[in-house]
Formats: sequence, C-alpha cells, structure tokens
Amino acid sequence: MESVGVSTIVVNGTRVREFLPMRECIDAMERALRALTRGRAVVPLRPVVRLPGEHGGALAAMPAYLDDPRSLGVKAISVFPGNEGTPHDSHQGAVLFFDPDHGALVAIMDAGAITAVRTAAVSAVATRLLARPDASDLAMLGAGVQAHSHLEAMRAVRPLRRVRVWSRTPARAAEFARQYNGSGLTVTAVPTAREAVEEADLVCTVTSAREPVLEGDWLAAGAHLNVVGASVAASREVDTKAVLRSACFVDRRESAVREAGDLVIPIREGAVAESHIRAELGEILEGTGEGRRSPGEITLFKSVGLAVEDLGAADIVYRRAREDPSVPRISLA
Ligand code: NDP
Repeated sequence: MESVGVSTIVVNGTRVREFLPMRECIDAMERALRALTRGRAVVPLRPVVRLPGEHGGALAAMPAYLDDPRSLGVKAISVFPGNEGTPHDSHQGAVLFFDPDHGALVAIMDAGAITAVRTAAVSAVATRLLARPDASDLAMLGAGVQAHSHLEAMRAVRPLRRVRVWSRTPARAAEFARQYNGSGLTVTAVPTAREAVEEADLVCTVTSAREPVLEGDWLAAGAHLNVVGASVAASREVDTKAVLRSACFVDRRESAVREAGDLVIPIREGAVAESHIRAELGEILEGTGEGRRSPGEITLFKSVGLAVEDLGAADIVYRRAREDPSVPRISLA
C-alpha cells in the first residue's frame, strides 16, 4: 500500500507563546494532572545524559502518552545553566508531537517556550489549590525566564498587592522590577532573599541554585511556596527547615522522591519521611487528597516537571497552529 504523505508543522517560540495563553494553560494543566492521578497517562521517569566537565550541561528526554486530551509526544531538552549571561537560553530543545492513532510526527515545537509557560501554569494550579484566598504579597527568588512566567501565572490566580524580587545578580532583579512597575503592580528589587521572603504569603523560588537560597526560619505563618528550580536529586533551593515547617505537595510522588533534591535531601537526612508529602496536585483536584488544613499552615509545592504537562500544553498549541496557514510545514518523508 502507498504511504500517506504527512506534513509536520513547525512552531517557533514566538508562535508557541501566541498560541498558549497562560489562563488556558492553567486549565490544561489541571486536566493533565487529573488524568495522571486517574492512571490515564503513561509517563516513564526521564533519562538524563549529564555531560562530563564543570559546566553542568545535561540533555533530558521526556516521553509520555496522555489519555485526556489524547496525545503522544516527547520533549528533548538541554539544560545548560552556564549559558546565563550569554546569548543562549539555559533550556533549549523541541517537543515532538505525534498522532496517537498512527504514530505520525505531526508537529515540532519550541520546548523552551512550552516549558516556560507550562511550569508556571502548574505553579498556578498549586497556588489556586493551596494558597490562602487572600494571599497577595509575593516574593520572587530569581529573575530569569521562569520568574517572568511565574509573575504572569501568579497574577492570574491571586490579586497581587506587592511583589518583592531578589536575584543573585542585583542588576537582574532591578531590571525585572523596572519591567513590571507601572503595569498595575508595585515590584521592588531587594538586596537579600530574606528581605523578599519575610512576611510574604506567596513565594516562588525559580533559581538555578544548587544550595538553598531560602531558609525555613524566614517563612511567615500561612505562606504558600512554589519551589520550582533544582529538579535534580543533588540540588536544592530551600533548606530542611523549610520542608519541616511545611505541608508538602508535589506534581508526582514517584518523580519527586527520586528527582527533587528539595525533598530527597531532607528524606535522606532522616529529617522527614516520604509520607511528609501530603498529596499530589491531581489527588487534591480529584478529591482523593487533602490540601491546606488551616490558615496558619505553611504549604510547599515542589515542582519537578512532567512530560504530561508538556503534552497538555502542546495539545493547545497544535490545535491552534494546524488551523493557521502561516505556520510552516515540512515533510520528513
Ligand atoms: P534562567 O537561566 O532564565 O534563570 C536562572 C535564575 O537562577 C537567575 O535568576 C539566576 O540569577 C539564578 N541563579 C543561577 N545560579 C544561581 C545560584 N547559584 N544561586 C542563586 N541564584 C542563581 O533559568 P529558568 O528561569 O529557565 O529556570 C530556573 C530554574 O527552574 C532552573 O533551575 C531550572 O532547571 C528550573 N526549571 C524547573 C522546571 C520544572 O518543571 N520544575 C521547568 C523549567 C525550569 P542571576 O541571573 O541574577 O545571576
């Protein structure tokens, strides 16, 4: 039988952002996390190739199948933290999106843009579920790609009154503050992480730090944290005290206890047990897991990042991009 000619659409980062509005992505992340919890997804743990040498470069493959919306794909993404301050992004790669009926490669999309939006959207899901309804005082630790998308995501789920931003390089925090001041927000760059975190009721840690940049002693009662950087077992952004003081939540237990240093290290130290993780976000959404228990409780969401999140986001992009004749098509046949 003659084979069918399949064209593959190619969606660059600018178009991904155009086709993937934050609010829609937040709802898509809820749907993907629910499907994961219901067992309607196939997500192996990601293999990571770490390059020898000092620069810490790595290449990860994140394949998955998702039943709702039905989708199949793999994200191949390099993470080169040493690219900061160079013209190269720290996260680069592609999501390869396949037709789940016949296996054709139907789209190639910029992975950096998908990752930026879907990661912040998942933190927004966590914030919507776990932060106090009146939370409005945000501390942002980090001023890179994720800091920008997290500010947009936090604004989508809580009415922000004040934002304090700290970054390792003070000029980056100052530039971040400058960009948003006047957009209906008051954003202040502060010289230390502690000055950002004290009294905040929302905290996002979005740095590439390997050692803690946040100490549990600084946290205000009732705060909610999204701990997003450090998605490998040997690195962490928050200290053991922060974990001990918090009720902990994750995107997926199996991944978190293997890949998230913020939890792996306190568990290895014997400070907490795996049972310290109260629930996956999908469990709370499905009503099988418990969220915040009291207004004074500190809640901590540790984000590892899952391939089903990429698929949920890629599905939105694909549906829009295939209807748009200006999106380029290629044939690999
Ligand atoms: P960027 O390179 O855009 O920004 C990195 C930020 O980390 C900058 O603010 C930088 O500060 C800061 N930083 C770097 N090294 C250190 C350090 N040693 N101590 C303190 N701060 C440091 O990265 P992204 O915003 O794209 O990613 C941020 C983190 O989130 C990374 O760790 C990344 O791997 C992780 N991530 C997690 C995902 C998930 O699903 N959970 C998905 C995507 C990313 P400055 O520029 O001021 O020096």
